[in-house]
Amino acid sequence: IKRIGIITSGGDAPGMNAVIRSVTRTAVSEGIEVFAFFRGYAGILDKEYKKFNFSDVGGIMEKGGTILRTARVPEFKLPEIRKKAADNLKELGVEALIVIGGEGSLTGAKLMSEENDIKVIGIPGSIDNDISGTDMCIGVDTCLNTSVDSIQKLKDTASSHERAFIVEVMGRGSGYIALMSALATGAEAAIIPENPVDYKALGERLWEERKRGKINSIVVVAEGAASAYTVARHLENRIGFETRITILGHIQRGGSPSAFDRILASRMGYEAIQALLEGESNVMIALNRSSMERVAIDKVLTEKKDLDLDLIKLTNTLS
Ligand code: ATP
Repeated sequence: IKRIGIITSGGDAPGMNAVIRSVTRTAVSEGIEVFAFFRGYAGILDKEYKKFNFSDVGGIMEKGGTILRTARVPEFKLPEIRKKAADNLKELGVEALIVIGGEGSLTGAKLMSEENDIKVIGIPGSIDNDISGTDMCIGVDTCLNTSVDSIQKLKDTASSHERAFIVEVMGRGSGYIALMSALATGAEAAIIPENPVDYKALGERLWEERKRGKINSIVVVAEGAASAYTVARHLENRIGFETRITILGHIQRGGSPSAFDRILASRMGYEAIQALLEGESNVMIALNRSSMERVAIDKVLTEKKDLDLDLIKLTNTLS
């Protein structure tokens, strides 16, 4: 392989820059040229790219967001648009594409590859940790740390005023961030899409805990399970606390990546190039039990990511 392309696509995640750095430096050290396309699939369609050398990716590992920017390109669902992208890549002599993104981005990559004979390697980038086949995605740990830091601050003021806070965190299809941030902050409960909530039972438990002397109550809710307003409507007047709502929102997408995300990104970027050198295509690089693995993108897209629901019980027991 002489030349590869790289894009970041879909929702951004802290650590994407560290992947771009790792892919570029590993490729260049193997004598492979790197064309970095801007704004995801849009940059391939518009041929908006820059050739990246070792020094072009200096000082980016610690930066949040993605220097390549990202975009949603709905027309990529059409085969003729994917063909145009593949033709552009071929015209530029790009033999393989590395795609950092979520399930949507991986779907586009897989289809373009199968229909047009372009090699693709996926790297899971998603703050929700909703991509199956890998224990962790790029950006999850940083997002979790941001959520934990924010919830901890809310807990301070909740205790001073003896209030309940309903905190809405990111996670459309996955309760990972909600559940883990609840566990890490000692929140009273996590409401997540994987486990239907019984508001009556939850209200009774929080009221019992209030009577036992608790001076605050924190309920973390994943955006995909319910809105914080809905949860508040169900719980206020029932739990003995005045209730406040906080929606963390996009703050969870930003920030300098954590050490864990920088290391994961560096390992995944390196592994993506090794996979290409060994002739692989249509695989996603994954972290499984501390090791780098390659999982067929087809398998990633057909399996549902599980969440260890025993952690709900643990969160409730320890709160
Ligand atoms: P996030 O974690 O933010 O959801 P994602 O990669 O899943 O990340 P999407 O917006 O779903 O984000 O997808 C990103 C881009 O991938 C889309 O704008 C589109 O260009 C392409 N894409 C998504 N779904 C498909 C599909 N079914 N077929 C072809 N291309 C797709």
